[in-house]
Amino acid sequence: MKFISKKYKALQLVLQPTTKRYVGLKWQIVPGTRVVFENGVYETEDKEIIEALKSHRLYGVQFYTDEPKADEPNREGAKEENAKKAVAEEIASVCPVCGFEAKSEFGLRAHMRKHEN
Ligand SMILES: [Zn+2]
Repeated sequence: MKFISKKYKALQLVLQPTTKRYVGLKWQIVPGTRVVFENGVYETEDKEIIEALKSHRLYGVQFYTDEPKADEPNREGAKEENAKKAVAEEIASVCPVCGFEAKSEFGLRAHMRKHEN
């Protein structure tokens, strides 16, 4: 799979920082995983790296895959936004006075008139 970074030609991403581990009687350096884009492209078939890149916080922000629609803003983020919106709409259509659930904001407004007197 190909990952593309249009803005940052030599983008470097740390997927896992280098750590030290005490093994036996001595410290061992456990190399982290780092990917470096070359000329704005990083190609890998390693499923773990692909997964890590796709769940990276900069995925969809600074780099994309070359899959169709990959240029769209972070899809996970968009999903979250939609979920938030849905929650907001849900709240907006529940009457704060009696808890009546209106099917729409308009319906709620009509319902709210009942409470005005
Ligand atoms: Zn009500």
